[in-house]
Amino acid sequence: MISVKGLKKSFGDLEVLKGIDLEIEEGEVAAIIGPSGTGKSTLLRCLNFLEIPDQGVIRIGNVEIDAEKYHRKDVYQLRKQSAMIFQDFCLFRNKTILDNVALAPEIVQKKSKDEMRREAMQILEKVGLADKAESYPSTLSGGQQQRVAIGRAMALKPNVLLLDEPTSALDPYLVGEVLGVIKDIVREHNTTMVIVTHEMGFAREVADRIIYMDQGHIVEEGSPKQIFTDAKEEKTKQFLAYCK
Ligand code: ATP
Ligand code: MG
Repeated sequence: MISVKGLKKSFGDLEVLKGIDLEIEEGEVAAIIGPSGTGKSTLLRCLNFLEIPDQGVIRIGNVEIDAEKYHRKDVYQLRKQSAMIFQDFCLFRNKTILDNVALAPEIVQKKSKDEMRREAMQILEKVGLADKAESYPSTLSGGQQQRVAIGRAMALKPNVLLLDEPTSALDPYLVGEVLGVIKDIVREHNTTMVIVTHEMGFAREVADRIIYMDQGHIVEEGSPKQIFTDAKEEKTKQFLAYCK
């Protein structure tokens, strides 16, 4: 479903991604872990060209882009393949919760307003926020706002869901409810997911594969069992020991 070949990205003199190769199967849940500043968010943002790679070929579904030669319309097609959830929610502040969920698909898929609002309501029920449909984001808790953001991403019915530390802005009480919603999506929808997370317990529980990144490289990848109990690389072992 996702293929990355020879991905490189620098910011000025700082080489952040130093040649990433990655294959993720349809329906697979991959968790990216690793130290701060290592390029995890940059990798995720390069997957949908929110950040333009310097080199490399990215494919999601049947849309493939070579960073060194592409058209703008290819970027649009690539972006339609995935939806991204950010750590700081990024909701429309002046729209109701219902409109926050209904709006994006209206633009992208040109559905009728009624149809989208009906679907949006069903999604709000799934993320446990039907009673907040007419509220505004500022009146919701962080966990609720993040559940809206997840609902909005689901409304796009993406082939791929990209999540960048979806719980990092939440207080510990709210982390569980958001992780619960993500687990439900994994169970029900078979969506391909790439999740950057510092929640090791969650990664271990939901991911099919753990990808350990360090200083712009993928150092090691494997099943949760293999990585958490029998990591091969010294760097991975050190990081995981530090996380405990
Ligand atoms: P964290 O776990 O703290 O979120 P990360 O692994 O997601 O870290 P990135 O956000 O990908 O790390 O950043 C990798 C490096 O690239 C950092 O040194 C960061 O300062 C730098 N960087 C990221 N985005 C930009 C940008 N737009 N301009 C300049 N430097 C950037
Ligand atoms: Mg990050």
